[in-house]
Amino acid sequence: MDFTTDYDLIMQRVRLINPLEYAQTRNYLHGAVTYLSPYISRGIISGRQVQSEMLVRGYKYQEIEKLLQELAWREYYQRVWQFKGDLIWEDLKQPQPEVLHTKMVSAIADAKTGISAIDKGIEDLYATGYMHNHLRMYVASIVCNIAKAHWLQPAKWLYYHLLDGDLASNNCSWQWVAGAFSSRKYYCNQDNINRYTHSNLRNTFLDKPYDVLPGMAMPAVLESRVVLDLQTVLPVTPLPDIDVSKKTLIYNGYNLDPLWRRSEDVNRILLLEPSHFNKYPVSNAVIDFIVSLARNIDGIQIYSGEMDTLLSLYENSPFSTGEAFIAKGIRHFGIILALRIVGIGSIPR
Ligand SMILES: Cc1cc2nc3c(=O)[nH]c(=O)nc-3n(C[C@H](O)[C@H](O)[C@H](O)COP(=O)(O)OP(=O)(O)OC[C@H]3O[C@@H](n4cnc5c(N)ncnc54)[C@H](O)[C@@H]3O)c2cc1C
Repeated sequence: MDFTTDYDLIMQRVRLINPLEYAQTRNYLHGAVTYLSPYISRGIISGRQVQSEMLVRGYKYQEIEKLLQELAWREYYQRVWQFKGDLIWEDLKQPQPEVLHTKMVSAIADAKTGISAIDKGIEDLYATGYMHNHLRMYVASIVCNIAKAHWLQPAKWLYYHLLDGDLASNNCSWQWVAGAFSSRKYYCNQDNINRYTHSNLRNTFLDKPYDVLPGMAMPAVLESRVVLDLQTVLPVTPLPDIDVSKKTLIYNGYNLDPLWRRSEDVNRILLLEPSHFNKYPVSNAVIDFIVSLARNIDGIQIYSGEMDTLLSLYENSPFSTGEAFIAKGIRHFGIILALRIVGIGSIPR
């Protein structure tokens, strides 16, 4: 799967969703999933738009129920984040049971578990920035429940590589698998992996009945651990050319909607804040994806720098006297912050 950044092609993909096939096959590696998460999580399209498209095409609510349920998970995790704030960086419901260490498992980072479907899934993640939901669950289960790593570092590893990286969905899903945001851990065995990835592997460390998995000894292949050095490299950009007699719309990696206030005569800046990316690192591929998606927004300038610098540009403007512009509760001189899509949960600062 390739992830186009062309807005018209993205909308074409929305029109091609088959919600009936989706409901039947979404758990299979090559099932009719939408591959829309990189666009939904980046604010290019919303879950509501997907729903409207389905209804316009004549589907009934019962026929799109499964798809809506899945879309709702993302919204739910956003609300968890809004409600819990920074607590999503800690075990949310209860301490993750049976933690042996807080590092990343080398065999997963190196795609060398010996389980071909898992290793291929990790290689594909590195190549495309995408991993199927079931594979994400398998990987998290191996890391947290078989290799007994705490979920946090491995979650940072996955977030780093995902084009759809979403701190709320990612942290909460890892915690759900690891039993820190659920009442029990999620386990998968080789039969399950074979079934949903159309493989037929035997004699792996997961080739066991379910009741044996929780108490099994650590497989030798999962013993090696690594501390990953995850860094973001931001593009070097000039200070943006801002007309301070006009408002400025600030976009970020979570709001790249080309239709947002499209008709307004404003400055438009994609703000890539080093302070944010130092805290939540992402790969070069993710940065390229964000920048490329931003090109759908007419007149946008890309700025790697901090919000305070932009605010200082307004010091001698008509907006500096305290005349404030408000967007979703945020006041910043003439600058309208991009909080439209999923609320403050999506703008970690
Ligand atoms: C360990 C782990 C980490 C994850 N990290 C992320 C992440 O960083 N960002 C992210 O967007 N999703 C994450 N997910 C959820 C899910 O895997 C992806 O949303 C899904 O695989 C995206 O592919 P798709 O668009 O083809 O999904 P589809 O099956 O086509 O789903 C349609 C849409 O529904 C939403 N959705 C579907 N399943 C889930 C789910 N379980 N949780 C939340 N939303 C869902 C997504 O917006 C998705 O685009 C994670 C899941 C796990 C188990």
